[in-house]
Amino acid sequence: MTIGFEGRVAIVTGAGNGLGRAYALELARRGAKLVVNDLGGARDGTGTSGTAAQVVVDEIIAMGGEAFANAGSVTDENNVAAMVAEAKAKWGRIDILINNAGILRDKSFAKMSIADFRLVLDVHLMGSAICTKAVWDTMREQNYGRILMTTSSTGLYGNFGQSNYGAAKLGLVGFMNSLGIEGAKNNVHVNTIAPAAATRMTEDILPAEVLEKMGSETVVPAALFLVSEGAPNRTTLAAGAGGFQRAYITLTRGVRVDADAMSPETVATQFEKIGGRENELLPENAFVQSALGLGKL
Ligand code: NAD
Repeated sequence: MTIGFEGRVAIVTGAGNGLGRAYALELARRGAKLVVNDLGGARDGTGTSGTAAQVVVDEIIAMGGEAFANAGSVTDENNVAAMVAEAKAKWGRIDILINNAGILRDKSFAKMSIADFRLVLDVHLMGSAICTKAVWDTMREQNYGRILMTTSSTGLYGNFGQSNYGAAKLGLVGFMNSLGIEGAKNNVHVNTIAPAAATRMTEDILPAEVLEKMGSETVVPAALFLVSEGAPNRTTLAAGAGGFQRAYITLTRGVRVDADAMSPETVATQFEKIGGRENELLPENAFVQSALGLGKL
């Protein structure tokens, strides 16, 4: 079995470096036409450079592929609209969107300014929403679309000094969960990747001998599967260093209590039982929780 992208048009945001670049190059190698977006700033989101995206476009063209660069921000609605319009004018469709652009403003919450919290949410969460909104109608109309969000183990499980980043990253899982329901009837699938790779984002966080084993190429297979024709819908795959895992948000069966026992003390005494993981559920939508509460499951 071969996964091909011939005739597909893909937008990869933040594709001038790191993971986005690796996704764009492999999509192009497998036949996709690429929009390479990258603002070209520093890791903390300061600065810009018109060349980051163009360098990757040049690499794609050198390998015989088709691509154009967009050096604007994912947070700039006018820029994103122009990028999408250019892709549609050139190639008539948009099949794939990989929301990958991101920055870091790490600090303990005690030392973090609201400006740093807001900026990180803006780039990761609002940037993904703006790009998704810009392609959504096109994908629905053509009855085909594959959108990939980028979360992080920090969003899923937490990390000291990354409360802004973690909030943004788990927000993207929530975004996927509802969007995937809305897109399903038009064959628009939405998934999320949790990468772990050696890029400038992790270069000073992990030791060199660990980073050696974590090239971007260890994340690419999961990302490309999640934007392929056979992609699932509403899944979160973790990938990196040779490992592939799937993350779930589950619900315990918990307990039901009678009205006369409805008190914080009951919750305290039943806390262990509420958290018991035997027969836990993997809810398909938001209504499972209330059904469980009502004793209907
Ligand atoms: P990276 O810094 O190499 O790449 C991020 C790219 O996004 C950069 O090229 C940057 O210029 C671009 N960018 C930043 N703000 C932008 C904006 N407003 N508009 C357009 N482009 C913008 O880092 P990476 O490790 O390749 O990160 C890619 C994604 O993967 C990010 O969303 C990151 O949070 C996520 N991630 C990475 C890891 C990891 O281990 N590397 C782990 C978890 C999540």
